[in-house]
Amino acid sequence: MTDHSALKEPGFRESVDLMFNRAVGLLDLSPGLEEKIRVCNATYTVRFGVRLRGGIRTFTGYRSVHSEHMEPVKGGIRFATTVNQNEVEALAALMTYKCALVETPFGGSKGGLCIDPREYEEHELEQITRRFAYELAKRDLIHPSQNVPAPDMGTGEREMSWIADQYRRMNTTDINANACVTGKPAHAGGIQGRVEATGRGVQYALHEFFRNPEDVALANLKGKLDGKRVVVQGLGNVGYHAAKFLNEEDGALVTGIIERDGALVSDKGLDVEAVHHWITAHGGVKGYADATYVENGLSVLEAECDILIPAAVEGVINLGNAARIKAPLIIEAANGPVTAGADDILRQKGVVIIPDMYANAGGVTVSYFEWVKNLSHIRFGRMQRRQEEARHQLIVDELERLSKDTGTGWTLSPGFKDKYLRGAGELELVRSGLDDTMRAAYQSMREVWHGRDDVTDLRVAAYVVAIQRIASSYRAKGL
Ligand code: GLU
Repeated sequence: MTDHSALKEPGFRESVDLMFNRAVGLLDLSPGLEEKIRVCNATYTVRFGVRLRGGIRTFTGYRSVHSEHMEPVKGGIRFATTVNQNEVEALAALMTYKCALVETPFGGSKGGLCIDPREYEEHELEQITRRFAYELAKRDLIHPSQNVPAPDMGTGEREMSWIADQYRRMNTTDINANACVTGKPAHAGGIQGRVEATGRGVQYALHEFFRNPEDVALANLKGKLDGKRVVVQGLGNVGYHAAKFLNEEDGALVTGIIERDGALVSDKGLDVEAVHHWITAHGGVKGYADATYVENGLSVLEAECDILIPAAVEGVINLGNAARIKAPLIIEAANGPVTAGADDILRQKGVVIIPDMYANAGGVTVSYFEWVKNLSHIRFGRMQRRQEEARHQLIVDELERLSKDTGTGWTLSPGFKDKYLRGAGELELVRSGLDDTMRAAYQSMREVWHGRDDVTDLRVAAYVVAIQRIASSYRAKGL
């Protein structure tokens, strides 16, 4: 086996640029446009003090805007001690490409605050979040038409509602204030289905992949998701929902769950819900009864399985372990989990990688629906739902009348009436929109993947689609 340990691993930002370069080299862009698309437009660093526990604590935060070819720019805000400028810029770049690929009309942005949220009480976190939001909002780095954050690692509905409220306090007459951030709770301007959207998107991405048997064969797999062995790294919001849906709805077996304090493995499949409860109660996987505990959790990335889902942080599959990865199919639920060097190694091994910018785009897609809902000030389905039901009722009544009048005795099959009569509510519409988005984006990547001789993997295909769209948007602006 080749030893890759002597090779130098580039940083996250460089890794994203290397992947971009591999794709852009295949395109014939006008001179200079390539660089314009690649570079990060601006990164704002803020250091602010908050009075806490009898003293003043200083925090460092960032909001990076990668590309404003479309506005607002969009991307989450991460709370983690590992946050730094290089990471925020890499993540902002990925947002640009992701939004272009799934056709959400946004440029790319990302924010981060260097903080371990677990070290603070809820009221302290609220103070810190509001202060960070204030610093960003006063520079239009939170704004319904300029820059719309969302949840990311370490943040969720709670933080988003604080941010929305802070913006509202600063812009009391802005009728669109609620659209300044997405991922808000349903009762505070959010949308049904946003919390699980990224995990749901991972599931829909796999559905679409498995709908294409030739692609499945390229990963040396066959059949459907049913019975496939899945290893998931990170049982946070994304990993938990992806694993849960794949197991409960598609019959996949979750044979490994990797967390911060170790991993759980079981050939017969883990109960995702039970493991999730255990982690919530005990802070980690250790001690969970119905599985084997592995202390060196990351070693389970190298376990035999059919589908590997890294769903936590960047860089977990790198030059150090790529050659030992056995999964024939990797779906990147996290942003940047495979480094550029690891990507080269895995490609040579014939591993199929469903890339992050597509695989985890469910979050921003449903964020887009939420933003549209906020701007239109009306819940999806409110106007049509009952009208749709009434029209379906007409057909059912007519069929029943025909059956009676003609004496055929035909009856509608059990369950049909209930299902058919129920008009689509917000959740059904969100799911339908997300499913459609994931199918369409997959097909656009697939066309490039199979349609061009110089494209041999899905990641380059995804970049090619994204870059072409961004380039035409610049061209339309006369650049
Ligand atoms: N943080 C998520 C991502 O990386 C969601 C971004 C959004 O909804 O704007 O895609």
